[in-house]
Amino acid sequence: MASKTYVTTIDERDTKLRLDDISTEPDKGVTREDAEARFGELSAELFGLQDLLWGAKTHSVLIVLQGMDTAGKDGVIKHVAGCLNPRGTNVVSFGVPTKEEQEHDFLWRVHRHAPRKGELALFNRSHYEDVLVVRVNNLVPESLWKERYGHIRDFEELLCEHDTIVLKFFLHISKSEQERRLLDREKDPSTAWKLNVNDWRTREKWRDFQDAYEEVLRRCATPRAPWHIVPADSKWFRNLAVITTTLNTLRPYKKIWQRKLDDMGLRGAAELAEYRRLQPAERGKSGKGDSRKGD
Ligand code: ADP
Repeated sequence: MASKTYVTTIDERDTKLRLDDISTEPDKGVTREDAEARFGELSAELFGLQDLLWGAKTHSVLIVLQGMDTAGKDGVIKHVAGCLNPRGTNVVSFGVPTKEEQEHDFLWRVHRHAPRKGELALFNRSHYEDVLVVRVNNLVPESLWKERYGHIRDFEELLCEHDTIVLKFFLHISKSEQERRLLDREKDPSTAWKLNVNDWRTREKWRDFQDAYEEVLRRCATPRAPWHIVPADSKWFRNLAVITTTLNTLRPYKKIWQRKLDDMGLRGAAELAEYRRLQPAERGKSGKGDSRKGD
């Protein structure tokens, strides 16, 4: 448990993990006001780090968001992706697989959205649905989905080997908080568009889904692709926990990225100096004295 990040981080096999033992509520010592102010500061820091990531192009970042309906996957995207530079940010939502997707292995549609170097991708649902909804609703034979935990670990290891920094967040809400949120949607005309009877159908299988999530958390957490369990009953705390954990993971790379940019700057300056040295007469004729500035 890493209390400073406000989340429970699992980075190895943990056969005893039980979600009922992990709180869905915010830390007692954090107020909403403080959390929102802190989120503002951290979002500026994340924006700066993303610029380094983009320029250095030595790594990519993959953020996977999973959770029960209403747990806040969309909310995290709105707030965290909202403070990033759209250039270099990719949000991908995974719904029921299309016919074409079903004709491939389950990782096919996911792998093609893995972020390239310099980019940050946020997955709203992911390859984990193939051992969650698929398992609970018996969409493929057990013999098939059982093999997928190993495939998922290998897949994420492959991404890490190619310098992808992987963060996986399970947004942990209580059953009662989910009920409140679903009922709120009915009361508020501005959120009525989100009403979906399937959310209530899925809720009837709450325990089955929690079991499926426990299995995922127990079996698919590795040192390089850990799971972070986020207490998500309060939206403001959830946002703070996600951005804090993301920054704690990315900060150690800052020096590497900065050094790469410094090297690129030196190389660019040297090439420019060489260019000018070889073309003194040309340079004198054009562009001299143009003081317009770009971004
Ligand atoms: P959301 O609920 O994430 O806001 P949607 O209403 O589009 O978005 O729901 C997406 C649906 O797609 C969910 O019910 C989810 O369980 C389902 N889904 C995602 N991946 C798979 C999959 N691999 N197989 C079957 N269903 C899936």
